[in-house]
Amino acid sequence: MNRQQTLTFGALFLLTVNVSLAQNLVVHCGHVIDPAAAAVLDNQRIVIRDGRFALVEPWRAQSQPADVDLSDAWCLPGLIDMHTHLSGQFSKEAYREKFTKNPADVAFDSAVYAGRTLDAGFTTVRDLGDSYNVTVSLRNAIKQGKVRGPRIFTAAKSLATTGGHADPSNGYRDGLWPHVAPEQGVLDGPDEARKAVRQRYKDGADLIKITATGGVLSEAASGDNAQFQVDELQAVIQTAHDYGFRVAAHAHGKEGMKRAIVAGVNSIEHGTYLDDEIIRLMKKHGTYLVPTLLAGDWVTQKAKIPGFFPPVVARKAATIGPVIASAFARAHRKGVKIAFGTDSGVSAHGENAKEFALLVKNGMSPMQAIQAATVNAADLLGKKQQLGVIKPGYLADLVAVRRNPLEDITALEQVDVVIKNGKQEK
Ligand SMILES: [Zn+2]
Repeated sequence: MNRQQTLTFGALFLLTVNVSLAQNLVVHCGHVIDPAAAAVLDNQRIVIRDGRFALVEPWRAQSQPADVDLSDAWCLPGLIDMHTHLSGQFSKEAYREKFTKNPADVAFDSAVYAGRTLDAGFTTVRDLGDSYNVTVSLRNAIKQGKVRGPRIFTAAKSLATTGGHADPSNGYRDGLWPHVAPEQGVLDGPDEARKAVRQRYKDGADLIKITATGGVLSEAASGDNAQFQVDELQAVIQTAHDYGFRVAAHAHGKEGMKRAIVAGVNSIEHGTYLDDEIIRLMKKHGTYLVPTLLAGDWVTQKAKIPGFFPPVVARKAATIGPVIASAFARAHRKGVKIAFGTDSGVSAHGENAKEFALLVKNGMSPMQAIQAATVNAADLLGKKQQLGVIKPGYLADLVAVRRNPLEDITALEQVDVVIKNGKQEK
């Protein structure tokens, strides 16, 4: 071995040592919130190996120094947002931008939004409707370490019926928008419903999103009418189950909500006009509610600005927006399972944690709000053995804040440290 080879060998050896060290991380947490037990453990030593928590034990005086010193901070599991739209962010220009942005523009935007989401402490999101399957590529790029962002479970394009919420051609004159079919997520009848679900499988989606009723931001008359018939819902759900997909249903109105719950969707998003009958059905079928209070608040505020929305949207925003919070309060009080979701992409990405204060204002304790964004969200994802707690064997996602969020939930709006898959991201 000549000198050059010795040097190269030495450098490689050092590199190998560094890589193996990078896979191990010791974190000293002043306080660890355990949402599974609704408890707090003080002064803990957390050892991370190969992207998973390996040890959680009391910190001892003789413990070797931590790689990440959070001895004066509050640590909690990485936060999970069950309702995002990372491929866009709403503004007054949103309807025009559908005609000016190329798929690559949307993709670059989504990478920026993903970084902001991760910096806000959200290490996992469920994306419920994109354009151009951008979030499938974004998910893969993040997994491969090419782009910073949360772990993504995506529905890709939402499924809608003709003229329904998430029909991308709504509001435009005939011929202006390309023809929409099951491939583009617009379907009519059970056969097309099956085809639309299978197309999502082919596109690489992780789950299915349907728009069971009208919605606020689409240029269509009703924000709450039922938009899927029972045979269409059954076809979506049966086909989804063939591919191991769960199904999330956007729903404001009661009839559409009722049909979707009975057909077997896993979650109702928004749930605006739910009543006691819907609450009973949700509890019977084990359906989660993802309240998206932030979106309700946001559209209510924007509806007050003349000209911000097209007139048909402004009317729906002013009617539906203010009702979402009281629907959540009622469902929570009566014991419906709640998972945290913001609809970010309506409000700005990176402000996801503002949802916590709204959940607490409308009846949750801070611990319950944290549970909604950790253990409950993991359960709704079907990942409760991997995500949502800081325990040996779980994926090493951890965030830290400087103030006690159990005393003031807005502490979660300033996340200091983010670790995802055992790697410090912030
Ligand atoms: Zn949404």
